[in-house]
Amino acid sequence: MSLNPLYRRVVLKASGEALMGEQGFGIDVSVVDRIAADIAAARALGVEVGVVIGGGNIFRGVAVASKGGDRVTGDHMGMLATVINSLALRTSLNKIGVDAVVLSAIAMPELCESFSQRQATSYMNAGKVVIFAGGTGNPFFTTDSAAALRAAEIGADALFKGTQVDGVYSADPHKNKDAVRYERLSHERVMREGLGIMDTAAIALARENNIPIIVFSIHEEGGFAAILKGAGHCTIVDN
Ligand code: UDP
Repeated sequence: MSLNPLYRRVVLKASGEALMGEQGFGIDVSVVDRIAADIAAARALGVEVGVVIGGGNIFRGVAVASKGGDRVTGDHMGMLATVINSLALRTSLNKIGVDAVVLSAIAMPELCESFSQRQATSYMNAGKVVIFAGGTGNPFFTTDSAAALRAAEIGADALFKGTQVDGVYSADPHKNKDAVRYERLSHERVMREGLGIMDTAAIALARENNIPIIVFSIHEEGGFAAILKGAGHCTIVDN
C-alpha cells in the first residue's frame, strides 16, 4: 500500500445510473455495496473522501419539463432522488465500518444533517466520508455542478468523475475500436471541444479553482484506490 496517495482530499462524483446495475431503474444494493468498498479502500490510504451521487436512476427534472410540467418542481424531485441515493450509500458504508455522514443542500433534519461548508470540513478533517446530497439545492443545476462546487468549497485536491468507461476517448470506444484514451487534457480543451465529461458549468468551476478532474470507470472494482496510488486507467483534466 502506498503511504503517499496522489491526493489528500477528493470529491467523488458518481451518476445515479451507476447505482442501478442491470436493473434499468432504482438502486441495486450490491452495486452500492461495491462502490462503498471502493470508497473504503480509498479511506484506507488515508485519503479524505467527499461524495456526490446523482439522481438519474430515479428521476431527472427534464422528465417533468418535457411533458409540459413545471421544471422547478421536476428539479426538486430530482434533488430528492439524490437524497435517496445518498442514504443508500451511507448505509452501505456503515455496514462495512466506514464512518459516513450525509449532508443535504435541502434541509430535512429527520433524515440527515444540512450542508454547511464548516460542518463538511470538520467531518472530513475527522476522517468521515461526507456524502453531499440534494445537489446544489437549486433547480436548473446538475449534480456535476454540485460536485465541482463542493470540491471548491472543501478545498479538494481533485474531483473524481466516475463514468461508464475508463477515461475520455477520441471516439466512443464501444462503437469505434480505433478510439484512443487521452492521458491528459486541459479544462479549456474539454470546454472548447464539448467533450461531454461533465457539464460546462462544472468544468468552468473546476478550472477557475484549479481543481483537476480525474475521469475513470466507476465500474472497475478497486479502480478508485488504484488511481489514488498512481496506477489504474484514467484521463486527467487540468489547467
Ligand atoms: N438537480 C437539480 N439541481 C442540482 C442537482 C440536481 O435540480 O443542483 C436535479 C435535476 O433535475 C437533475 C436531477 O436532480 O436532473 C438528478 O441529478 P443529475 O441529473 O445530475 O444526476 P445524474 O445524471 O448524475 O444521475
